[in-house]
Amino acid sequence: CPTLMWFRSDLRVADNPALAAAIDHGHPVVPLFVLDEETPGAHAPGGAARWWLHQSLRALADALDRLGAPLVLRRGPAETVVPAVAAAVGAGAVHWNRLYEPWANDRDARIKADLRARGVHAESHNGRLLAEPWGIKTGADAPYKVFTPYWKAFRARPEPEAPLPAPERVPGGVTADSETLDAWGLTPTAPDWAHGLRAAWTPGEAGAHARLNAFLETSLAGYPELRNRPDTAGTSRLSPHLHWGEVSPRQVWAATRARMAAEPGVESAGWDFLRELVWREFSYHLLYWWPEIPETTWKSQFRAFPWRDDADAYAAWTAGRTGYPVVDAGMRELWATGWMHNRVRMIVGSFLVKDLLLPWQWGERWFWDTLVDADLANNSASWQWVAGCGADAAPYFRIFNPVTQGQKFDPEGGYVRTWVPELARMPAKHIHAPWQAPPQVLTGAGVRLGETYPHPVVDHSAARKRALAAFETIKGG
Ligand code: FAD
Repeated sequence: CPTLMWFRSDLRVADNPALAAAIDHGHPVVPLFVLDEETPGAHAPGGAARWWLHQSLRALADALDRLGAPLVLRRGPAETVVPAVAAAVGAGAVHWNRLYEPWANDRDARIKADLRARGVHAESHNGRLLAEPWGIKTGADAPYKVFTPYWKAFRARPEPEAPLPAPERVPGGVTADSETLDAWGLTPTAPDWAHGLRAAWTPGEAGAHARLNAFLETSLAGYPELRNRPDTAGTSRLSPHLHWGEVSPRQVWAATRARMAAEPGVESAGWDFLRELVWREFSYHLLYWWPEIPETTWKSQFRAFPWRDDADAYAAWTAGRTGYPVVDAGMRELWATGWMHNRVRMIVGSFLVKDLLLPWQWGERWFWDTLVDADLANNSASWQWVAGCGADAAPYFRIFNPVTQGQKFDPEGGYVRTWVPELARMPAKHIHAPWQAPPQVLTGAGVRLGETYPHPVVDHSAARKRALAAFETIKGG
């Protein structure tokens, strides 16, 4: 009897432990993807992620066609759909790779129990992480709350196992009713806002590997110096590919280690990069042990924080019209491409929660809808970190100055010029604080503040004082 392979956030055929186990049964394999938008509730994929999912599923379906077993697409709550498809094809076994989102843990445990009760072999695998959340504990058998000791413990373990090769064929021959990808309407049509996404990305397994190889060849050596520079392509941009599982962290680890061995000069840069990859593991560790992180402020004193409720300020932030060029560049990069550089994510995050004094959850929500790499673990842990209320968070009183951050990390202003074209002719010296530029400089650059580009929505030094005063009110709590 056939074996069901349930694809989720592991949209690849190589180094896919569940697919390899399904093939090992020696029976026909039925590959299945279920679009389950009910169970995750507010954490169903947002707009940019849905666009990505469409492209990625098309690439996976093509790969599976070539290998011999067409992908079956079904929509609905997985808890009903998976057992129903298993029953319809007479499956003797179902395999999948584990997710760690709280909604998925509960659902998948129920599905496993249901299948087993029907006499179907149901087995989950690790295809998503280098170390599962329960695999790394402190000496006192507790989960880690701080990254540095977590990283130390991670390094003390044996290195991750080598990735599995891609299968040469997937035995097919069993058909099941399938919906069509186009009927799911995951890509925008009216209006079609995805042209910037199409220009920036090649979703799918081949695109992920091309991105990884290009990064290792051209940018790994410069990673330590350039990873904080949004004006260069200094980072890998693998985050959406990792989120959707088009490349596994084990494949990224192995390819990076191979590069480090082949070119001894990049040894230290390689470790810097792998350390970032392990931040992703740490976010999953936190989410698994503290599943309330996406909703609940970690440090309880912050639950009484006097956040403001200012829809206009929030609208200026989302639209990239705050009057602070590096903030606006980041928010527009996000809107256009579905991605934002990590340094700028920290700057815009700090600006939202400290300069504008708006709740971090508002930022988390916006990112959730607009990021192609929107990831429950990374997004919620990072927002709490930025807001100063998370595990291992930056202290709240360390408030980023958006002008000096821009000057330091975008010294020539190239990043701002790319995303805020109305400032394209501003000289580097004034581009991060146009309101301080002499009138003749503004005129020369064709900038009319308040007309072609907004005045700052807040005065940073006053906003900083306001944020610190707000923090004083909860400090003792
Ligand atoms: P690289 O520097 O090339 O790093 C390689 C990989 O390591 C990344 O692809 C990512 O998987 C992981 N990584 C790197 N930095 C971090 C980090 N700080 N935390 C966790 N993992 C990391 N990342 C997401 O994947 N999804 C999110 O929804 C997300 N939301 C964020 C929200 C905020 C407010 C902030 C400050 C950060 C967020 N990040 C998120 C983390 C980080 O910004 C991105 O992972 C990174 O910018 C991706 O770019 P890259 O692939 O070029 O990274």
